[in-house]
Formats: sequence, C-alpha cells, structure tokens
Amino acid sequence: MKIFKRSKKDKVSKRLLFSIIFVFAVVVGVSTFLIIQGVQKAEAERIEAERIVEEKRLEEERLKAEEEARKKEEETSEESTEETSEETSTNSSSNSNSNSSSMNGGNCTTSFGNLMLINPNFTVSTSWIASRKTQLISVSKTYGISEAKASNGDNLMDAEAAKHLGEMVKAYEAYNSGHTMQTRSCFRQVGTTCGRLCAKTGTSDHHTGLTCDLIDSTYGTDLNTDDYSKHKEWQWLKANSYKYGFIDRFPEAWAGGSMSEPINVDANGSTGLFETWHYRYVGVTVATEIATGKYNNGKYDSLEHYLKSIKKVSDLKNGKC
Ligand SMILES: [Zn+2]
Repeated sequence: MKIFKRSKKDKVSKRLLFSIIFVFAVVVGVSTFLIIQGVQKAEAERIEAERIVEEKRLEEERLKAEEEARKKEEETSEESTEETSEETSTNSSSNSNSNSSSMNGGNCTTSFGNLMLINPNFTVSTSWIASRKTQLISVSKTYGISEAKASNGDNLMDAEAAKHLGEMVKAYEAYNSGHTMQTRSCFRQVGTTCGRLCAKTGTSDHHTGLTCDLIDSTYGTDLNTDDYSKHKEWQWLKANSYKYGFIDRFPEAWAGGSMSEPINVDANGSTGLFETWHYRYVGVTVATEIATGKYNNGKYDSLEHYLKSIKKVSDLKNGKC
C-alpha cells in the first residue's frame, strides 16, 4: 500500500517536471524565434536605410550634373551675346564709369553711369535687367518713402539716386505743406504695354534703376498727365527737381506728337512719351543743364537730345554711341 502510494506521488511529480520542461522549452523556442526575427528586421531596416542614402547620393549627383550643364549652356549663350553687343557698339568700354558696363546684354550707354540711356532704340536684355536689380537699394526701407502701389513690390533704386530722391521728397513736403509724396513704381524688371505711357521690357527707362514714377496722394492714385500738370505742387517739382539731380524725363514738348498715337524716339531726341510723374536721376550738373536748356536754346531738354548734343551718342534712331 505504501509502495503504491509512493509510485502515484512519483508519477505526479514526474508529470509536473515534464510540464515545467515543456513550458521552459516553449518559452526558449518562442524567445529564440522572436530574437531571430528581430535581428532579421533590424538587418532589413539597415539595408533599406543604406539604399535610401545611396539613392539620395545618386539624385544629388544627377542634380549637380544638370546644374553644371545648365551653367555651361548659360556661359556659352552669354559669350555669344557679348560678342554681338561688342560688334554693334563702338566705344562702350572707353566711357566706362560704372560696373553696369561689365554686365552682359546692356547697350553702348549702360556704361555711362547716371547718364545711361534705355529706350526703344537703346535696348537691354532681360539678363542685364536682372543683374541691374542686384545693384539697387529699397527707397522705402532706406528713406521711408512709401510705394503707393503695394503690388509693385519694393521701390528699388541706385543708392546715389535714392539719397537725392530722399532730399527732394523732404523738400517737396516741406514746401507743399499737407502733401505727401510717394513712389509709384521705380525699378521695373518687366516693362509694360499700354502704348504712349509705357515701354516694353528691354526698352523702359525704369530698367536703369535711376527712375521713379512719383505720386502725390492728395491728387488720388491715378496717374494722369493732364491732371498732374495743373497742380501748383507739381509745377514746383518740375521747376526745382534739377537742384536734386532729377529731370522731368518725358516732358510734353519732347513727346513728338499727340497722345493718341504711339511714337518712338526720333533722330533729334523726341521721346514719344509724355509722363508728368516720371522723374529720372542724372546728377545735379547734368540736370541743371537739361532743365535750363544749355543745348536747347534755354528750353527744357530731353535726355536723348542732350546726349546727342554732348556727343555721347551719335545716332539716336539706330541706337549708336
Ligand atoms: Zn514711368
């Protein structure tokens, strides 16, 4: 009886032992399986990460090669533009007084500094215009003169011209109490197309960085040549701007005809434009000579006629210096 009892107990403890071993084996098995899976997953992730890095490197190399090819192409086309402009201009380098002369796609006058001429006969390329932009400063940020039309962006201008504009605006507002002068488009990267009052891209005086359309908000925001010329404040501006180095760039006397038809620059210096708000910096000495008509029998001159008179340009009709 005692023996029987013992063997039953032994059987129970053996079963328990087997169960423990079985559970242990299962735990070990599962753990091993999970560990192996984890290692495999980590390895797969490492390979994927390496693949992404490699792909990124190849993409960068491809972009770099494309950029280099583009630059090379640009250099080649710029060189050919330079050759063409050198063929057509006769003495552009001899008059160099501005770094704009080293920019490609200018005309023979773009080395004249404050006297550079851009019009339908003396044109500039879009790449020249883009380079010119990098040389300019913001009139509103530097001198607090606001741009009346926000969509025109910053009122950019050559630093020397902007300084003189700042002084002229101060004088205008001091003399004409209660009036505020604003800009309404200074440097323009792209020209406009509205006939007698605007100039196409490459032909506009606004590409020079020496020009601003000016506006007195008391008159409203519309630019109207006939209306502007009636105001005594604007008459003060026309009479005094030369003291600050600015000229009325497109006076009526030089428009070349009635406002109803588009007229281009002629051989004698007519501008084809009449814009009472368009003021251009040329420096105090030249502005004084233009305003007092030194080469025009005492009457207000045009920049075109002035440059021909002082023999800086020889052929206004065909754009030759
Ligand atoms: Zn203008």
